[in-house]
Amino acid sequence: MLSVNEARERILSHFQTTATETIPLIASANRVLAVDISSANDFPTFDNSSMDGFAIRAEDSSASLTTLRVVADIPAGTSPTVTLQPGQAARITTGAKIPHGANAVIPVEDINPNFDPHPNPLPKKEREMPSAISFNKKVNVGENIRPKGTDIKSGQVVLQKGRFIKPQDLGLLATLGIANVEVYKKPRVALLSSGDELLDVNSPLEEGKIRDSNSYTLASLLENANVEVIRLGVAKDSKEAVTDLLDQAASQKADLILSSAGVSVGAYDFIKEVIEANGKMDFWKVNMRPGKPLAFGSYRGINFIGLPGNPVSAFVGFEVFVRPALNRMSGVGDRIRQTLKVRSEAEIESDGRESYLRAKIQEKDGILFASLTGHQGSGNLLSLVQADALLIIPAGVKCVPAGQEVEAFLL
Ligand code: AMP
Ligand code: MG
Repeated sequence: MLSVNEARERILSHFQTTATETIPLIASANRVLAVDISSANDFPTFDNSSMDGFAIRAEDSSASLTTLRVVADIPAGTSPTVTLQPGQAARITTGAKIPHGANAVIPVEDINPNFDPHPNPLPKKEREMPSAISFNKKVNVGENIRPKGTDIKSGQVVLQKGRFIKPQDLGLLATLGIANVEVYKKPRVALLSSGDELLDVNSPLEEGKIRDSNSYTLASLLENANVEVIRLGVAKDSKEAVTDLLDQAASQKADLILSSAGVSVGAYDFIKEVIEANGKMDFWKVNMRPGKPLAFGSYRGINFIGLPGNPVSAFVGFEVFVRPALNRMSGVGDRIRQTLKVRSEAEIESDGRESYLRAKIQEKDGILFASLTGHQGSGNLLSLVQADALLIIPAGVKCVPAGQEVEAFLL
């Protein structure tokens, strides 16, 4: 039987990155960038004020008393035409361009508020520009100025291909004037369940039947992974029904067909047979627990992954095999699964297969301890819902003593 790693490598060798598409900036969040992005300009593009205040010549200032004549008003968004001469200042707002001749900004908070060289009998309006200012402060050259090019240099690569685009990246792209972004296409995954026992979520329970839970768990896992999900529903346990849904997946040009159940050795497990009729089965068993009946092949040229039917096995199979394949297709590349080292609260028995056990994680005196969430039956979905992590017990290990470190994959 294949080991988990061998099976994953075999699966991955069949997946490539999807084609790219160019989409509006606003739609690009959570997509994967398909090109390096470099800046065509320096940012800031001009020296500008970081404060509301007065642009001055630093050499005019002194710690005793400075009085300067205000010769211009420079609100943000304007292009100043003035050149400051000795003894002159210009009122300026945050983000406005520094005028020629100025080399510092004194914030409005540092200006003497009561100074008025030409007292006016009328009450003074807050926003009226003073004809002169006074202050007691030695200002350094460059103070409160954001120089051109300090954030980004022209030609600098600011976002790299393969990056998962974050909200703040959208802001950066907007700054750069990039209105349309080249991203990898979302992988299209056709999802189906199989089994005569499966009822729709709306159906009352019937003797011998269960509700189809896998298609909900899996659709949601896929959607969270930014996949376009084609929900094909449930195939009955017959060759015709399975063929019909697989053909629908093929006609919708899916990048991957993902099914659950029907790949085991039961008398009504038809999926292998149908795949082989119009494609090929590469393998259908992996040395793991839960999730041994895991199938990989292709149907009419489309990659096919058959997850086990048991809900916990389907989930584990998704994390171990499908997610890496999606990462490949989506352009983010091969990511390392983020795991933590935790200590086992109690002794854990394993059967020597690579095992993924559901556990709760709790901290005691700064140490993380894992304890299993009840019985580990692969049909016990509640034990997965209650878990914080999957403990990964390596192949060959039959007993983990209490207190030993194990690897935990956080859910
Ligand atoms: P199978 O692989 O068809 O032998 O199914 C294994 C187990 O998983 C059986 O107990 C099935 O009833 C159960 N099962 C199969 N498909 C689903 C599903 N979509 N949702 C919940 N349980 C399922
Ligand atoms: Mg079945």
